[in-house]
Amino acid sequence: MKKKTRLIHGGLFGDEATGAVSTPIYQVSTYKQQGVGVHKGYEYSRTGNPTRFALEELIKDLEGGERGFAFASGMAAITAVMMLFNKGDHILLTDDVYGGTFRVITKVLNRFGLEATFVDTSDLENVKKEIKPNTKAIYLETPTNPLLKISDIEAISGIAKEKGLLTIVDNTFSTPYWQTPIALGANIVLHSATKYIGGHSDVVAGLAVADSAALADELHFVQNSTGGILGPQDSWLLIRGIKTLGVRMEETENNAGKIVDFLQKHPAVTKVYYPGIASHPNHHIAKKQSGGFGGMISFDVGSAEKADQVFSKIKYFTLAESLGAVESLISIPARMTHASIPVERRAELGITEGLIRISVGLEDAEDLIEDLNQALEN
Ligand SMILES: *Cc1c(COP(=O)(O)O)cnc(C)c1O
Repeated sequence: MKKKTRLIHGGLFGDEATGAVSTPIYQVSTYKQQGVGVHKGYEYSRTGNPTRFALEELIKDLEGGERGFAFASGMAAITAVMMLFNKGDHILLTDDVYGGTFRVITKVLNRFGLEATFVDTSDLENVKKEIKPNTKAIYLETPTNPLLKISDIEAISGIAKEKGLLTIVDNTFSTPYWQTPIALGANIVLHSATKYIGGHSDVVAGLAVADSAALADELHFVQNSTGGILGPQDSWLLIRGIKTLGVRMEETENNAGKIVDFLQKHPAVTKVYYPGIASHPNHHIAKKQSGGFGGMISFDVGSAEKADQVFSKIKYFTLAESLGAVESLISIPARMTHASIPVERRAELGITEGLIRISVGLEDAEDLIEDLNQALEN
């Protein structure tokens, strides 16, 4: 089955009982038992719900894993995966991970004795150097946010396997339409489904997929124990969003390519970050492991003042956090999504005051370029 077909025909068919082609929203908390412990596979909706299960089967199929899990947010999914580990375990993470991931690891999970080191995983030598006797997993985000750094999933999961470590990949930016980390050796894939998977700025959700039955059992145990599950309405919205994921990702890719060409030629732009640019340090890896470069572009306009000028003049890009929606969004990482990262650390990472991040939507590329052009003009 090809990718676009799987988006429509993966997972479960709508409703066998009535023939409805859309999965019903099972707005229910509990299920009648024929006798004590005798039931049709569902007992209580924290443990399992048919609408959520349809979504979990679909994301499992798309990522090519053993079992999928749906959570109330990307952070709930990430936190649940971290709860697979024990006090004193150590995790190696990509240094410019999503701000919320950095925060939960360094300000919440540290209280329970989970140790972590953040390194630039786009360089394999850093990964090898930082593995400790108590390291249990390597956690990658690729491409990263907002500098679009690329890590080699296949090479890193090879290093992890040799040492008996798990490889976990936050696949939010690429989606399974462009990148399937399990096929490259990863054990767990994570998503903020709030972004491209939902795709319409109308739902907050998280997904996880495990590559083995043993890992899936552990993750279901955590999901059921801690309870950060996705409700049936939001599960249904994600199933709906996924049906158009292919056309949305293709169109975003087309628009992003044109905007990158424009930004690279503009005199007010000092630097453009995009994995599709041939001079991007890991362009060849992006090309090898992903079918597309995605719709996220960052560019530097040199100063906070110039960035403010762009924000005050721009019309079609909405100033907002988040990404991956049909409408184009614009943000300034240093003051928005990455504000929770300490100033010194932001400077180390290269997240400057003039760095603007855009999430390219599905508007006409000509309108978007015209808009950026007038906003950048002196
Ligand atoms: C948004 C985001 C998250 C967090 O997801 P929420 O749905 O906001 O909880 C995690 N990782 C990445 C890459 C994200 O962009």
